Amino acid sequence: MSIEEKIQQIQTNVAVTCERAGRDPKSVKLIVVTKTAPTPAILEVLRLGLCDFGENRVQHLKQVADEVADFQAAHAEDGHTPPKVNWHMIGHLQRNKVRQTLKICNTIHSVDTLRLAEEINTQAHKLGVHTNILLQVNCSGEAQKYGCPVGAAIHLAEQFHTMPNLRLVGLMTMAPLTKDTDRVRACFRRAREIFDEIKGERIAGAKFKHLSMGMSQDYEIAIEEGATLLRIGSAIFA
Ligand SMILES: *Cc1c(COP(=O)(O)O)cnc(C)c1O
Repeated sequence: MSIEEKIQQIQTNVAVTCERAGRDPKSVKLIVVTKTAPTPAILEVLRLGLCDFGENRVQHLKQVADEVADFQAAHAEDGHTPPKVNWHMIGHLQRNKVRQTLKICNTIHSVDTLRLAEEINTQAHKLGVHTNILLQVNCSGEAQKYGCPVGAAIHLAEQFHTMPNLRLVGLMTMAPLTKDTDRVRACFRRAREIFDEIKGERIAGAKFKHLSMGMSQDYEIAIEEGATLLRIGSAIFA
């Protein structure tokens, strides 16, 4: 299948799953994860009109963002107005890479400690920007390298919400790597419960509306459990 066909297939699956779950398909956004993709494939996605891209390594982010910007500049010369690309940082972020990341990304999905949030707030202030962040929570019930423990999520969300250059826009989680769909679903459901609690208690304000969950293997389950941002790579590029 071509990239175009794969994207169409995903969009169809999203629409069918939303229908089944009684959700508006417009409430679910596809973030195209470019980490394994060669540049021509990324440009192909851009030509198809998708403009939310996710990266998990700062090095590759810089390279790919430059190439996309060059492509768009060339297109602008042809008299087209290319869509504005939104870059999402979705992977573990070291504090010494925050500044570089903020120069490219307006949204960071993987904020899981107070120290990281403080550094993003400091650098965003210096750059004169407001950065959208999501609190990454480990809802998998197993030892994962990243994501705050479930029990720490509410308190961290409260602290993130007080930082003036951050906008806490949601939660992010990653399902366990397993074919056991019950465990995958339980993880997403846990994230949804924490999300509802933060929203219900008005801990985070009106911008708090996203659940970033669901990848190539599990995005349909994630939609059923309330995902608004899907992060999909290999189903498009592999
Ligand atoms: C790689 C990655 C994805 C996409 O995974 P696929 O299985 O390729 O769809 C999503 N989220 C994060 C954090 C990733 O690192």
